Amino acid sequence: MDNKNTISNLKNELPGIIIKSEGVEYHTECKNNKECLKAIREILDNEATEEQIVHFKQNIDKCLPCIDNYNLEVSIRKVLCDKIQKIPVPSELINSIRAKIEEI
Ligand SMILES: [Zn+2]
Repeated sequence: MDNKNTISNLKNELPGIIIKSEGVEYHTECKNNKECLKAIREILDNEATEEQIVHFKQNIDKCLPCIDNYNLEVSIRKVLCDKIQKIPVPSELINSIRAKIEEI
């Protein structure tokens, strides 16, 4: 299996929204909040490495701020995705964008 496949398989196993369970002891603070958020974004945008995804999967269910961040980022992408699909793009616009790209 090549690397790209491994990553997309790992990504497919990720939860849509992480539901917090009762009785689980979560970290209420994240020491690496910035790093975690960066990793979450890279994972959701398909830019993460295999190590990042594996690390994320091992830690995401323990860290409360990161669960919230993950859920927020997933929701944002979902909304954007729904919006994008609902708006039909006029063909004049497509053609003018294409022409601009070809100029570059
Ligand atoms: Zn964290």
